[in-house]
Amino acid sequence: MASDRFQPLQGMSDIAAPEVYVWQGLETEARRVLHSYGFDEVRTPVLERTAVFQRSLGDDTDVVRKEMYSFQDRGGRDVTLRPEGTASIVRFVASAGLTPAARVYYLGPMFRSERPQAGRKRQFHQLGAESMGPANPAADAEMIALQLHLLQAWGLDGCVLEINTRGEPEDRGRVAEALRAALVPRQEELCEDCQRRLQENVLRILDCKRSGCGAVVEALPPITDAMSDASRAYFREVLDLLDRLGIAYRENPRLVRGLDYYQHTVWEITHNALGAQDALAGGGRYHVDMDGAAVDGVGFAMGLERVLGALQAGTGEPPSAYRPPDVWLISLGREAFIENLLLCQTLRRRGVSCGMDLAGRSMKAQMRAANRAGATRAVIRGEREVEEGTFVLKEMAAGTQETLEMPELLNRVLALHTCPPGTVEPTL
Ligand code: AMP
Repeated sequence: MASDRFQPLQGMSDIAAPEVYVWQGLETEARRVLHSYGFDEVRTPVLERTAVFQRSLGDDTDVVRKEMYSFQDRGGRDVTLRPEGTASIVRFVASAGLTPAARVYYLGPMFRSERPQAGRKRQFHQLGAESMGPANPAADAEMIALQLHLLQAWGLDGCVLEINTRGEPEDRGRVAEALRAALVPRQEELCEDCQRRLQENVLRILDCKRSGCGAVVEALPPITDAMSDASRAYFREVLDLLDRLGIAYRENPRLVRGLDYYQHTVWEITHNALGAQDALAGGGRYHVDMDGAAVDGVGFAMGLERVLGALQAGTGEPPSAYRPPDVWLISLGREAFIENLLLCQTLRRRGVSCGMDLAGRSMKAQMRAANRAGATRAVIRGEREVEEGTFVLKEMAAGTQETLEMPELLNRVLALHTCPPGTVEPTL
């Protein structure tokens, strides 16, 4: 059995071939779709000042209270491994002084010190997008459409969109009062955390995962009842736009999402293939005040491990970026080996993916390696071929082979390839 000391930390994983090609396939497809909506990638650091998250996500959120990997660096600064992407993007937008209409996306690891279980990791990966700008129902509907477009482009069917509103900031007091009035008579049934939240941050109770609290929450009146007409009209407009875009949704009057910065539209996308941790993705409109810089936007984040889990549970083939090598070079004898080394480099520079054995193994072992790699063809050279300046080209699937000279061999191998832009075209 492999020793534990070679395993990653609990709740974290190595992602290697062949699975890593599925990740790359998802990423490539996602970049294509995001680009078609006019989003630019931004890569923020994974380590940030703790305040970046604490202030924007809210002190009483589960993420901030229990889940952040926070520590002091060698200079005594409080730093945190990012638990989510939006706060860093907001910091970036504020620091870069970007136009209020910036559209950016990110892709990378997030860290939450949660109890690991199926679908819940300590290092997981999110693809997120943020569309900056003041509250606008069309922007919210567009983000939802984009998110569903991405899931479809990945071949994922059966996603369910649940949606609600948190209303305007001015609604908060009225919503909290209405919730408290409904919850106080049943406070004994709430968990200890929620009893405290009743006074401090009553909205968080709607997010509590404990079953006792869930039963109480189920019976609550919709929070929209306590909201202003303007908030309700905004939400209605988002739903109308979704209808016009042909997007199916389920209104969930108890959905509030776990972070404090949300206002107006919030949503979650679930997939029934995922079991207990069925949240594939979430999103919402937010207003973040970071050190005096106020940033408004709407965004979403999808958990890539969960997307992969749902894809693997389904019947579809997740997109994979894996391409077997076009050619495998097989050498018999030292001279053929040296000539093949040269040919290998030449072909690679022409954009042909090419492999060969470097350990001087037998012909049989080299053939086995070609098969294992899934190479489409093999080019075989022995002493005679080197002397005659010829090559044996073998089509691996058909098993046919023919002897060719250099120009013809190159034409045949290159025929299926166009040189990627910027590739050096060496002379032979
Ligand atoms: P959240 O910011 O909590 O709404 O997370 C957005 C998405 O990230 C979720 O819908 C999940 O798909 C994913 N996610 C969140 N936490 C984890 C975790 N601990 N492990 C794996 N995926 C996660």
